[in-house]
Amino acid sequence: MVDRVKFKNGIEISRLGLGNMRLPVKTPLKREANPMIDYKKGQELVDLAYENGVNYFDTAYMYHAGKSEKYISNELKKYPRESYYLADKLPIFMCPKQSDMEKIFSKQLARCDVDYFDFYLLHSLDGKNWAKCKKFGAVEFIEQKRKEGKVKYFGFSFHGTVEDLKEIVAAHNWDFAQIQMNYLDWKNQKADEQYQILTDAGIPVVVMEPIRGGKLAEPIKEVKTLLNNNNPEISYAAWALRFVASHPNVLTILSGMNEAEQMLDNLKTLTDFKPMSDTELKVCANAAALLNKKDVIPCTGCDYCADCPKGVKISSIFAEYNKFKNGEATESEVKAEYTVLDGKASDCIACGKCASHCPQQIKIPELMQNQMKSFFE
Ligand code: SF4
Ligand code: SF4
Repeated sequence: MVDRVKFKNGIEISRLGLGNMRLPVKTPLKREANPMIDYKKGQELVDLAYENGVNYFDTAYMYHAGKSEKYISNELKKYPRESYYLADKLPIFMCPKQSDMEKIFSKQLARCDVDYFDFYLLHSLDGKNWAKCKKFGAVEFIEQKRKEGKVKYFGFSFHGTVEDLKEIVAAHNWDFAQIQMNYLDWKNQKADEQYQILTDAGIPVVVMEPIRGGKLAEPIKEVKTLLNNNNPEISYAAWALRFVASHPNVLTILSGMNEAEQMLDNLKTLTDFKPMSDTELKVCANAAALLNKKDVIPCTGCDYCADCPKGVKISSIFAEYNKFKNGEATESEVKAEYTVLDGKASDCIACGKCASHCPQQIKIPELMQNQMKSFFE
């Protein structure tokens, strides 16, 4: 059984949590905007996770084009409600009006077919979203839901600056916080500082993107060589998970696992877990340095930006570009893939809609209009 970590009120959370942003699909065609979810495979994966002790299941209103909440509640239906913890999030950035918070919250309970959420987060906070939370009284709104028994533990997920985080941490007595943490973003996205701020404030950390959208499970060949030279017995994904789990204030690590093989490997990594040695931590820092030498776009493929009015296939374009930069494909190969995309860089009208949703703060309109256009077209 996978390790469990003590939380509040005597409850224990599995060190590995199941993220449900990228779901198993029947037709995994990268150019299809919203492929069909494979519910049968999903059930097998949820069963495998549950039977091996995973008890934390994370979803969000917008994941998988709004289908994730219904999906995970459907797959968990056969298990007693009190035997697992369901985490969901309020997308303040999708609330033009204050009353939208209530509408969305009610819809989430209905979609998940539950009476309460165990863990509930303000989704993707940064300075701008936090300002809106303050304006709409989002903290008070969720605290009211807690009083009504509809929320048990209240936290936030975060994609802003260190200064934003300090302000948010000081503003409320949070039960937990979710940050993007992996060996590449430890320095790149200042995850080290974020982790320390939360630890100093006594706030347990839920980790998202531990394998950076899968990129650290199949890293560039220089990183593979480095990791193999230090321990050829474990997978590249295990290196990434072990790095994160070696930090004692980590409560649970969310991984989106679409294959049983991945899940079994992750379960093995986080069962009877022993933290990394200083030498292994140094190897991870060296792997990050090798990755940083490549001039890639730091896109995780989350598709928060997918609702482009001109249909620009943003994440697919960045993925092809990165494949070339990482040496995984030749220039002509990635250009051939680009040719068949039906929303190209030159279709971008620089409306800026995508950039405001990007948790990695990628300057998408500028990149589309300049670097991507001149490389691919
Ligand atoms: S800035 Fe360009 S890529 Fe982004 S949403 Fe607008 S048109 Fe689409
Ligand atoms: S560009 Fe940003 S929002 Fe779009 S898929 Fe990449 S990381 Fe996600």
